[in-house]
Amino acid sequence: MTHPGQLLNQKKLYAGKELGQNFLSNPGTAKMIVEKLRLSNETRVLEIGPGLGALTIPIAQTAAHVTAVEKDSRLIPLLQQEIDNENLKNVTLINKDIFNINLKEMARDKKLVVIGNLPYNISSQILFRLVVERSCIEKAFLMFQKELAKRIIAPPGGRDYSRLSAVAQYAADISFVTQIGPSSFFPKPEVDSTILEFNFFETKEFNQEQEKVLFNVIKAAFSKRRKTLKNSMTGGEFEFKKQFVVTALEVAKIDANRRAETLTVEEFKSLAKAVWKTS
Ligand code: SAM
Repeated sequence: MTHPGQLLNQKKLYAGKELGQNFLSNPGTAKMIVEKLRLSNETRVLEIGPGLGALTIPIAQTAAHVTAVEKDSRLIPLLQQEIDNENLKNVTLINKDIFNINLKEMARDKKLVVIGNLPYNISSQILFRLVVERSCIEKAFLMFQKELAKRIIAPPGGRDYSRLSAVAQYAADISFVTQIGPSSFFPKPEVDSTILEFNFFETKEFNQEQEKVLFNVIKAAFSKRRKTLKNSMTGGEFEFKKQFVVTALEVAKIDANRRAETLTVEEFKSLAKAVWKTS
């Protein structure tokens, strides 16, 4: 692997902050990460943001196929060259924004394993998208800033428990894979990074439309997290009326004076069912 600083320098390019470009620069770290993912020669991988190929190459050396979606067109020729240097024939590079990719079409009849050292500025949106589209994803290994990873796995009751925690924990079993310090990246970020593994499951209790209600309920509840549920959920983006919120909370047997951060995922599910019934 060529050091990303050297590759960029050769072409007089720079790492763009707006695309969250902190490239892995330590081949030992990249190899250690891919070993921890336990990929097989049957795995079909979607890599989000391959950058200059630090993960793409060791993944392609292990998995059946990698589709790598990179938004930055400047990196594509450099990345293609790195792949050709390794004589790898099982990588498809797509120069697109990940939000413009149809995951179902890509997966077709075999679920994907999604891997990404995610651009930090859009990592929450990417995780939401993967949750919504999880029917075509077997699992995901995603690298986040350490603080965000902490929030994703936080249990109810504390300050870290957030909308993202409730949504992600509803859709997946989540486990810690490893932590990586700033010195493994170019340019060096200011914080540590954490890789989490998401084993997605489909929830038979909710169809797609009901699941949307659940996600809206979670969003409304956390919209003013210091307020009690009867106040945080009233008005706002979804324009719930106060009486409607109070009745739904009663049906779900949840005290209207509690705050969103105290509700378990099961309680959010009961509340969504009550909202569904009450509407
Ligand atoms: N995987 C590489 C590595 O570990 O060295 C690069 C990781 S870097 C943190 C994030 C990568 O995502 C960059 O290459 C960036 O250009 C790309 N990226 C940013 N926004 C994207 C988007 N919306 N769709 C696809 N790729 C994106």
